[in-house]
Amino acid sequence: MSPLEQFLADVIALEGPLRIDRYMSLCLGHPRHGYYITRDPLGDKGDFITAPEVSQVFGEQIGVWAVGVWSAMGQPQAFNLVELGPGRGTLMADVLRTVRKVAPAFAVAASVHLVETSPVLRQKQREAVGEAATWHDRLENVPEGPMILIANEFFDAIPIRQFERRAGVWRERVVGLADGRLSLGVGGIVPGTMGKDGDVLEFAPARDEIAREIGSRLAAHAGAALIIDYGHLHTAAGDTLQAMREHRFVPVTETPGEADLTSHADFEKLAHALTEAGAVVQPGMTQRDFLLAMGLEQRFAQLQGKADAATRATLSRQMARLADEAQMGNLFKLLCATAPGMSTPYPFG
Ligand code: SAH
Repeated sequence: MSPLEQFLADVIALEGPLRIDRYMSLCLGHPRHGYYITRDPLGDKGDFITAPEVSQVFGEQIGVWAVGVWSAMGQPQAFNLVELGPGRGTLMADVLRTVRKVAPAFAVAASVHLVETSPVLRQKQREAVGEAATWHDRLENVPEGPMILIANEFFDAIPIRQFERRAGVWRERVVGLADGRLSLGVGGIVPGTMGKDGDVLEFAPARDEIAREIGSRLAAHAGAALIIDYGHLHTAAGDTLQAMREHRFVPVTETPGEADLTSHADFEKLAHALTEAGAVVQPGMTQRDFLLAMGLEQRFAQLQGKADAATRATLSRQMARLADEAQMGNLFKLLCATAPGMSTPYPFG
């Protein structure tokens, strides 16, 4: 047993089975043994890869998008450029490089705030973005003010609860012990009659809370938020909890703290929380539609123009990975929320 598995087994022996959100938060964020606390999980040699790690073009296009938002905000001379869960800092580095080129005044006006709990990734971010950024554990600690906020594959890592219906009754899914090993099970009956047997419903109070915090900031100051994640635009039943290790799915209780634990973002619920807090939310769109509208093909063609044959082939593969329907293009969605009264940022609305 790993030290984290032993710790979890001890907690379960003392307190009983753990809710999925508690299990997720301990696996990912345990102060000594948590997955994100102990490693940089990104890249070919890690456990998973994200869009900014696939190609610089992803961050470039978010940078161009952000400049459009800044114009719609009236080009404030000071605003917060916030990123939630910046990973290796690649996306923010690509955004900053792009805006310095296309809108130097944006780059001067922006104060960069990175919300990150992992010390290992904070160090990577420092190397990528430079000392000029400020780091925070939580969005609540970022100073209030006009804001452009970006979150790519952040919400999927925030814990969820799961409920499942069997034999006509709902129970909460939990992680308990079976023969001394961690094992998925269910707790006592909870009230509820909707749905049908076999349904699994997911709730993410922690995600809703962060979305409400974003929404209330947008209600008070000019700005916009761009949330990018894999998931569904409309709430639906289904078990989307998954563990990934070395680019493969593994059982969620097999190697706690050694695998990335995520679940699909429910964009309808995020939109609801943002709206409730006072922001204006545009209909979501797929990553494919967003990137094509932002000029993905033109930018790749430009890069290919100067490249040798091998690089051209690599670039084609990267573009396909970001935007093809069968790859990240359709699974990943974008949600844009703005301050009330602001014009809708292209290409939303
Ligand atoms: N956005 C990056 C990384 C995605 S991985 C990219 O696209 O490559 C998820 C990121 O969220 C990591 O940086 C992880 O350390 C961070 N993270 C996870 N849980 C967090 C939390 N509760 N608060 C802040 N950051 C968190």
